[in-house]
Amino acid sequence: MVHFVGAGPGAADLITVRGKALIENADVIIYAGSLVNPALLGYAKQGCEIHNSASMTLEQVTEVMLAAEAEGKTTVRLHTGDPSVYGAIKEQMDMLQRHGIAFDVCPGVSSMFAAAAALKAEYTLPGVSQSLIVTRMAGRTAVPEGESIKSFASHGASMAIFLSAGMTKRLSEELINGGYGADTPAAIVYKASWEDEKVIKTTVGGLAASAEEHGITRTALILVGGFISARYNRSSLYDPDFSHGCRKGGSDI
Ligand code: SAH
Repeated sequence: MVHFVGAGPGAADLITVRGKALIENADVIIYAGSLVNPALLGYAKQGCEIHNSASMTLEQVTEVMLAAEAEGKTTVRLHTGDPSVYGAIKEQMDMLQRHGIAFDVCPGVSSMFAAAAALKAEYTLPGVSQSLIVTRMAGRTAVPEGESIKSFASHGASMAIFLSAGMTKRLSEELINGGYGADTPAAIVYKASWEDEKVIKTTVGGLAASAEEHGITRTALILVGGFISARYNRSSLYDPDFSHGCRKGGSDI
């Protein structure tokens, strides 16, 4: 059996209770060493076989999984954040399926949530934005044409931009070309929840200068939108005049 496990954003205690138990029980762990905090390997039992996938190909990862399975071992494939976001797990799951190997997925706390927590921000502020666009700049992996930063920027929604910390100049241009004002609030959150976390508040126009000033080119999320500043409407959910399934509002009484 293979368990794909979300390691969380970095801090070793931000893995789920289930994810930790799966690590404790694993005979083999393959972890994404470029981003997963090695401290999580401290939960592994003695004698657990550990592989860092940072220097491995899909074929080599496959080989390790198949060998473990042949010996009736339990494997944990540890991915940063939540495995469904830029985790490249689909190709691994399809491979396991072809080999008739059972697997499941344990979700994790994505870095986009650790970044919001670091900022003490809420992506979905009434009167500001009720949508979060999760995307990236095109890099060596292409982004489908209809999903350009420019086209997404035209919505004015909250944005969490992955894998783009090294391209802030172009990112900033595309955001502005798409319709965000240069003074739209933005933030760069580097290594959210790690000990060396950095939270830099800036603007869409100031992204490149801020990234350069702090020497940030990777392991950071770029957040964009009015949700980073303070103006919003109060939510209906806790409004005394608003009724919902669990509470009757004052104006209805
Ligand atoms: N599955 C992961 C994302 C993997 S893609 C998740 O759910 O978070 C790798 C990208 O994620 C990095 O380039 C960076 O943009 C972002 N990232 C991962 N961990 C991060 C962290 N602790 N702080 C900020 N950004 C992070």
